[in-house]
Amino acid sequence: MALIVQKYGGTSMGTPERILNVAARVKRWHEHGHRVVVVVSAMSGETNRLIALAHAVTDTPNAREMDQMLATGEQVTIALLAMALQSIGIGAKSYTGGQVAIKTDSSHMKARILGIEHAAIEQDLSANRVVIVAGFQGIDDKGDVTTLGRGGSDTTGVAIAAALKADECQIYTDVDGVYTTDPRVAPKASKLDRITFEEMLEMASLGSKVLQIRSVEFAGKYQVPLRVLSSFDTGKDGAFDTAWQQQTGTFITTEREHDMEQPIISGIAFNRDEAKLTIRGVPDQPGIASRILSPIGDANIEIDMIVQNVAADGTTDFTFTVNRSEYKKSLALLQNIGQDIGAKDVNGKDDIVKVSLVGVGMRSHAGVASKMFSTLAAQNINIQMISTSEIKISVVIAENYLELAVRALHTAFGLDRKTGETSVPA
Ligand code: ADP
Ligand code: ASP
Ligand code: MG
Repeated sequence: MALIVQKYGGTSMGTPERILNVAARVKRWHEHGHRVVVVVSAMSGETNRLIALAHAVTDTPNAREMDQMLATGEQVTIALLAMALQSIGIGAKSYTGGQVAIKTDSSHMKARILGIEHAAIEQDLSANRVVIVAGFQGIDDKGDVTTLGRGGSDTTGVAIAAALKADECQIYTDVDGVYTTDPRVAPKASKLDRITFEEMLEMASLGSKVLQIRSVEFAGKYQVPLRVLSSFDTGKDGAFDTAWQQQTGTFITTEREHDMEQPIISGIAFNRDEAKLTIRGVPDQPGIASRILSPIGDANIEIDMIVQNVAADGTTDFTFTVNRSEYKKSLALLQNIGQDIGAKDVNGKDDIVKVSLVGVGMRSHAGVASKMFSTLAAQNINIQMISTSEIKISVVIAENYLELAVRALHTAFGLDRKTGETSVPA
C-alpha cells in the first residue's frame, strides 16, 4: 500500500462543510490501507485578512511578527481537519510547522526549507494515524516561526513527500488539473493530462499560481511524483480501488517519460503583479546600467525584464519591470537616481501585465514570436516590452487587454478545447 501526501488549498478548506468533505476523502484513502499525510492551507481569504490587519496597524510591519501572525491561519485548519477526521472514526493528529519540525532559514515571509524531522510523522503513520501538517510555515534555528511566501503550502506538501519518499504528492485544489491557461480567464482552456517539470516551472515562474514555483523546483530536484487534481471532484475516487495510479488530474512528469509528440506551445501564463519603470535621456556610458539598477537591487527589489534603447543623440533609455507591490518605492528611488545622473525624464506604469507563451516545442520551431506578435496586432494590442528564452516568449501589454490577448493567443496556437471535451473547472 502506498504512502501519499495530500495537500488541500484554501478554497478546499474554506468552510466547515468543505473540511468535512476533505475528511471524507482522506478517510477513503486511509480505509484502502494507504498511509496518508495531509498538508493544509488556511481557509481561503484568511491570509489576506491577516495581512490587511497588519497594514491597518502599521505601514511597515515587522517581518518576524508578520510570520508569527500569518502562521495562525494554518494552525486553525490543521486542528479542524483533525477534529473532523476523529469525528468520523479516523485517528488523526495535527502538527504546526514548528512541531514537525520543518526547519527553514530566517528569511521571514520567504523562508526556504532546509530540512524536515520526520521521525514523529513516521511513528504516527505506523500507529495507523493520519498526520496533518500546517502548510506554509516552518521554524528557524532561533525557534522563530517563518513562512514560505504566498502559495507556500504547495512547497510544504512536496517537501514532506520528498522527506518521506512518498509514492505521490497530490495537490488538491479548486480546478481539476493544470490547464493550457487559467480557465477563469480563457473558458476554452483545456486540461493537460501531463506537463513536464521544465514547462511547469516556466508556467509557475511566469505567473500561473496553480503551483508555487518552489514546489515545482523541489519536486524536480527530489523526483517527487506530483499530481494536481480537484478536491471537489468526487466521481473519480472509485478508481483507486484497483489502481490509484489511474487517478485523474495532471501529472507533472520528466521529459523522458513524455514520449508523445511535443506541442509547440503547452500553455499561456500571465502575471498581473508587475509594474514598469522608464528612465529616459541618460548619457550612454560604460557603467550606466549598473548606476541605474544597483540602487534598486540594493533596496532588495527584484527586477524582472530589462530593455535598453540607444537614441540617435547618444543618450539611452532604460525600461524595467518590478513587482507591483514595490512600484512606488522603485519609482521614488529611480527619481533620485535620475537627478543624480542627469536623466531627462523618469516615469512608470502599474496598469500593465506580462503575458507569456511556454513550450519546450518552441526550441525546434521558428516563427512562434512573429505569430504571437501578429495575433496581438490583429486585436489592436500594443506590445510595450518583449523578452524571450529558449522555451518562452513574454510580452508586456496594457492590463485591460489581458483577457483579449490570452484568448486570442490561445485560439491562434490551437490550444482551445475541442468540442465534445467536457473538461471544465470546478
Ligand atoms: P489553492 O488555494 O488550492 O492553493 P490557488 O488559487 O493557489 O489554489 O491555485 C488554483 C488557481 O490557479 C485556479 O483556481 C486557477 O484560477 C489558477 N490558475 C492559474 N493558471 C492556471 C492553469 N494554467 N491551470 C489551472 N489553474 C490555473
Ligand atoms: N495561506 C497561504 C497563502 O494564502 C499559503 C497557501 O495557501 O499556500 O498564501
Ligand atoms: Mg495555491
